[in-house]
Amino acid sequence: MSRIHLLPNRLANQIAAGEVVERPSSVVKELLENSLDAGATQIDIQVESGGARLIRVRDNGEGIHPDDMPLAVNRHATSKIQSIEDLEQVGTLGFRGEALASIASVARLVLSARTADQAEGWKVESEGKDMAPRMTPTAHPVGCSVEVRDLFFNTPARRKFLRTEKTEFRHLEEVVKRLALSRFDVSFSIQHNQRVIHSLRAAASQLERERRVMTICGSAFMENAVSIDVSSAGLRLHGWVGLPTFSRSQADLQYFFVNGRVVRDKLVSHAVRQAYRDVLYHGRHPTYILYLELDPSIVDVNVHPTKHEVRFRDGRTVHDFLFSTLHRALAEVKPAEALSEYAAVGAQQSAQPSVDFGQAQTAMRLRTGAHAGSALPVYISEHTAQYFGVEDALAGVAMPAAATGATSNLDAAGEQEVPPLGFALAQLQGIYILAQNATGLVVVDMHAAHERVTYEKMKQSYAEQGVQSQPLLVPINIAVSEREANLVEDQAELISQLGFSLQRAGPESILVRQVPVLLSTSNVEQLVRDVLSDVLEHGRSERVREVTNEILSTMACHGSVRANRQLTIAEMNGLLREMEHTERSGQCNHGRPTWTQMSLAELDKLFLRGR
Ligand code: ADP
Ligand code: MG
Repeated sequence: MSRIHLLPNRLANQIAAGEVVERPSSVVKELLENSLDAGATQIDIQVESGGARLIRVRDNGEGIHPDDMPLAVNRHATSKIQSIEDLEQVGTLGFRGEALASIASVARLVLSARTADQAEGWKVESEGKDMAPRMTPTAHPVGCSVEVRDLFFNTPARRKFLRTEKTEFRHLEEVVKRLALSRFDVSFSIQHNQRVIHSLRAAASQLERERRVMTICGSAFMENAVSIDVSSAGLRLHGWVGLPTFSRSQADLQYFFVNGRVVRDKLVSHAVRQAYRDVLYHGRHPTYILYLELDPSIVDVNVHPTKHEVRFRDGRTVHDFLFSTLHRALAEVKPAEALSEYAAVGAQQSAQPSVDFGQAQTAMRLRTGAHAGSALPVYISEHTAQYFGVEDALAGVAMPAAATGATSNLDAAGEQEVPPLGFALAQLQGIYILAQNATGLVVVDMHAAHERVTYEKMKQSYAEQGVQSQPLLVPINIAVSEREANLVEDQAELISQLGFSLQRAGPESILVRQVPVLLSTSNVEQLVRDVLSDVLEHGRSERVREVTNEILSTMACHGSVRANRQLTIAEMNGLLREMEHTERSGQCNHGRPTWTQMSLAELDKLFLRGR
């Protein structure tokens, strides 16, 4: 029988290391968090061989008192909390007091530090099975450096799991990026194999912060994002959200911080996903950098050792706040606002002649409805191809009441205010509306735009009193499957709220008596089939109510002008005016852009004018 004994110190620490030290990036995360907790404003990181050979983090924080240095490398030794009550309010990134001890047990760690009131610095290493600390004096500026060499040198099984130098560095760099996004007031630099990879100066102004974001996430993100800052009931959400048209195939540009802490949390990502659901093409991922701030006592960060998850005391409220704030922010990207930001950026640029011209050009595209580069060009061309040959059943489609032809160009408008999307000039290839506004040329994807306008109207009317419906002159008989015919009976109420009156006419046939007013001129048979198949797909349960928006979106697509339909100038102007008043009109129901803008300056540049 084996007897019970205490584990040697190093072994106990190595076991603990299993949880926190997975790879070089986890070491960097712990060291950077310590530097930030120590109040550093400048942090320099040196890495060799993806971090497996060397990680050195040097900061200008408060340092460590020499008497405490042996403790710092001991497990369960921390300066950050005293009691269980402190845990409730924890404001530091660390508090478990196990990172340095864990790292020291699986690598060669040297901790050097000096406090402001000490004349000289000290360094400490821990040796042997017991990890007995050994102190020696050393020259060191105020602050702290930690050197970690040969990670996992004594745990070969873990070393085997390290990937290539490049992969490990990528993970490590991601950690630095995240923390750099969480603390704009701190300067960061990182070198890999003696090469400077990033050098980020502390950013105080909004412009500097946006520049840091551009360096970290690419300028395309910044050009396609709107900044938000909303507070309500003790919660504040600020940061940048990418336009739906700037979605990505992977969820790799999503940063969420709770009280400055990087968080990957289910509740949070669910709320964000919901907010984008209406405007994002299926299977695409939104982009965002968001900061949630709230009273630390109503969020528990002590859930997991790597502290990625949090627990909100009132999850429902947080979820609703996130959802409604983001949903609103995305809804508000209307032409007028996009254009006024456009103008603001333009003005800013002319006040700042130092901005390089190429960059100014891209920055000026900021926040228009659409960007060729970020849209989904492949999908668009497929979609366009579908237009052709589609029967134009929409000859009388309810196009919005229009401005009169007399005001259809800027000259005629005279003193009259030019609306944000301007006045229509012509239709191109039966697909695009060309319009002229104060800035230059506006190009609108007619089908996409009309679809969004119709969809928003239907959603609104559905929410208010159910979709308005209108009887057909002659009811239409449609052959359907038995399941679909049953559905017509089972979901009678829902179907009537969607604006239809359907009646079972036999085991496999139904009679269509009424259809939604907005869709009265569409191909009724096809419309009804699509709606039934949507309802069927989403089940016959209550869940179908959650997807009414998807059904309305299908319906709106039927009711929208097809390509190749000739519009009069008045009809085109009517659509432009509708877009200006419609929420989320910057993208169609599938998240593709509906319009874009080319300024006169951009056009001039194309023709090398005035340079
Ligand atoms: P924790 O951060 O959870 O307290 P660590 O093992 O990471 O535990 O660090 C132990 C202690 O060492 C910290 O509580 C802190 O007092 C001190 N320390 C670590 N790194 C630094 C640093 N860069 N500057 C000042 N003190 C530090
Ligand atoms: Mg720590």
